[in-house]
Amino acid sequence: MKKADWIIKNAVVLTMDEDYHIFDPGAVVVIGDSIVAVGYETDISQAYHADQVLDCGGRILMPGLINAHTHVPMTLLRGLADDLRLDVWLMGYMMPVEREFVSPEFVRLGTQLACAECIRSGVTTFVDMYYFESDVAEATAESGLRAICSQTVLKFPSPDATYFEESLDAAEAFIKTWKDHPLIVPSVGPHAPYTCTDEIFKACTELALKYDVPLHIHLAETAGEVENIRKEFGMPVIPYVKKRGILDAKVIAAHCVHIDEGEMRALKQAGAGIAHNPSSNLKLASGFANVTRMLELDVNVGIGTDGPASNNDLDMIEEIRLASMVAKCASGDPTALPARQTLSMATSLGAKAIHLDHLTGSLVPGKRADLIVIGIDELHNSPNFKRNPEGIYSQIIYAAKSTDVSDVMVNGQWLMRDHDLLTLNERQLIEEAQAYAKKIDSFLIRREQSVLSKLVAIGGAMEEESFEVQAKVHIKDAEAIIEALNKESVEIVYTRHYHEFDTYFFFEDESQGRLRYREDEFINKAGEVTNVRGRLTLVGVSSEEAFEHDVMLSRSRYFAPATHSLRFFREYFDPIKEIDIEKDRRRFQIQYKGVDFYINLDTLIEPDLGQFLEVKSRTWGREDAERKSRMIAELIDYLGASSERAATEDYIEIVISHLNENLEKEKTS
Ligand SMILES: [Zn+2]
Repeated sequence: MKKADWIIKNAVVLTMDEDYHIFDPGAVVVIGDSIVAVGYETDISQAYHADQVLDCGGRILMPGLINAHTHVPMTLLRGLADDLRLDVWLMGYMMPVEREFVSPEFVRLGTQLACAECIRSGVTTFVDMYYFESDVAEATAESGLRAICSQTVLKFPSPDATYFEESLDAAEAFIKTWKDHPLIVPSVGPHAPYTCTDEIFKACTELALKYDVPLHIHLAETAGEVENIRKEFGMPVIPYVKKRGILDAKVIAAHCVHIDEGEMRALKQAGAGIAHNPSSNLKLASGFANVTRMLELDVNVGIGTDGPASNNDLDMIEEIRLASMVAKCASGDPTALPARQTLSMATSLGAKAIHLDHLTGSLVPGKRADLIVIGIDELHNSPNFKRNPEGIYSQIIYAAKSTDVSDVMVNGQWLMRDHDLLTLNERQLIEEAQAYAKKIDSFLIRREQSVLSKLVAIGGAMEEESFEVQAKVHIKDAEAIIEALNKESVEIVYTRHYHEFDTYFFFEDESQGRLRYREDEFINKAGEVTNVRGRLTLVGVSSEEAFEHDVMLSRSRYFAPATHSLRFFREYFDPIKEIDIEKDRRRFQIQYKGVDFYINLDTLIEPDLGQFLEVKSRTWGREDAERKSRMIAELIDYLGASSERAATEDYIEIVISHLNENLEKEKTS
C-alpha cells in the first residue's frame, strides 16, 4: 500500500477527462501538489492509505472551475456605474476612477476580495488582466489560487504607466520574476485593438514569444469595434490582429462576439483560445458570441466572468448556466450547448483555451490537485435521479448555486473546508472594501458637480486663455461684404470655407455654462469636403463684459479635442436640453490698420435664420479690448453692415428665441 497525503472519498467523482469518466462512489488520491490516482473507492482503498481523509458524504468531487477572463481587482469598482454603453462606462467612468485610485494597495485589496469570492464559487484558476499585475500575482499566490496574470499594455496613460514603454518594461520584469512560480503564470495583455497600436502589438508578441507565456487580449467585443477596424483597415478584427503578428503567440482572446466562421478557423489554426463572457456581453448588450459554431469547428472555448464591474460578480456557477442558456436562445436550438459540454468549457476545455491543460482542468493522475466538492442535496437541487448517469451534469449546470461549493483544493492545499475560507479573512476584506467605496463615492460626487470637472475627467481638456472682443451682425448681402473686403484698406491673410455642425448641451444649473460639440467639414474650391475636425468647448460664464458699439468680450472657454462621438458625450454629460445649429462659414483672417481680425460670414441653414457677419480679434487686456472694440465698430461700418447691427448676442440666444417663437406659433395655430 502506498502512502498518500490526502484521500478524498465517498464522492461522485466527475473526472472531466477525455472520456468523461464518472466514479460513483469514487475517490481521488493526492500526494504533494498532484493527483496520483482517481477511481472507484474500493480500488483506491486497496492501493492507498493516508492519515488525512476527507469523506465527501456522497457529494460531487470534480475539477475546480476555470474563470477564463476577468479583471479581479475591479471588485472594488463593483456597482460603481451600471446601465451604460461600453464606451461611456469604460472611458467615462472606469478609466478616470482607475487613474485616480488604482495603486498597488488598491489592486492587492481588490484581488484578495476577488480571491475569496472565486474560492466560494468553486474557481481554482482564473485569467486576469489589470494594472500593477505583480501585486495581483502576489495577493493571488498568498490566497493559494492558480492564475494567469496579464500585465496590461495600452496606448493611453494608465494607473501604472504614463507611456506604454513603461508597461512593457513592467511586463517583462514581471514575467522574469514569476516565470517558474507553482501557482502564477505571468503574461502580457495588450488591452484591445482600439486601445493599442501596431508598435504595442509587435512588442507584446515578441515578449510573449521570448518567454513562452500567454498573450491575453480583448477581441471583437462589440459590433462598433469591428465596424471601426473595417472602416479604417478594410478587414475584420481577427485578420487585422493576425497581420500584426498577434496570433503567433499563445493567445487567450476574450469575447470574440463578432467574428465570422473564417475568423474562427484562423483562431483554431493559431491554437488560440477564446474566453466567452456571457454575463458581460448580456449586460453591455455586446451581442451573442456564436459559441455553438466555435465548438463545432473545434476551437478551444472557455468561460469567463469578465471584470466584476461589468458582470457584476465572479460567480462561475452562474456564468456556466448563462453560457448554456444564451447558446440555446441565440441559436434557437434547445439542444445546443448541453450540460456536459458546458461544464467542460469551465474545466477541461477551458484549461486548453488558456494553455494550461497540462496542469489543470480534469481529475487525471499527474495533473495538479485543483478540485472542488459540491453538494447536490440542497432544497434547490433535490431530488436526484440516477437513471441517466449524465443527469449529474444537468444538476450542476441548471440548478447548482455557488453556495453549494463546500471544499476547494488548489495545488494540493485546501483553501476552503466545509464552507470556511482558510487563507483569507472575508469580514476584514469587506470592511476595507467599504472604506474604499466611500473614498471613490466622494471623488465622483465632486466630479459630477461640475461640467468642467467631468470634461477634465475624460482627458484632453485645456483651458483656452486667449480672450476675444467680438461683434455679430445680421446681414442681408454677404457678397457686398466680400466685395468690401477685397478693397485696398483691408489685407486678406487667408480664407477658409467650411460647413459647421454645432450641438449645444444645456444643463439644469445654468452657471455650469453650455457645452458645444462642433464638427467642421472643410470645403475646397471645388466644393468637396477635404477634412473633418471635431472639438468640444465649454462656454463658461466668467469674465463676461459688454463694450460700447455692441461689442463684447468673450467668455473663458475650455476645450477638448472631440475624440468621442456626439452620442458618447450626450450619454456621458446627460444634458437637459440640446440644440443643433448647422451653418456654412466663410472665414477670413485680415489685417485692418495693422491689426489682425477674423471675419466670419455665416449662412445659418438650421435653423434657417439668414446671414450673419462676425468680426473678432484677440485681446490682451482692458485697454487693448476697448481700442479693438472701437476698431471693430469702425470695421463693421466700413464693410457697410452698420445699419443691420444690433445682434451682439450669441447665435445661440438668437436660435433659442427663434425656436421659442416657432413653438409659440405652433401652440396658437
Ligand atoms: Zn475584460
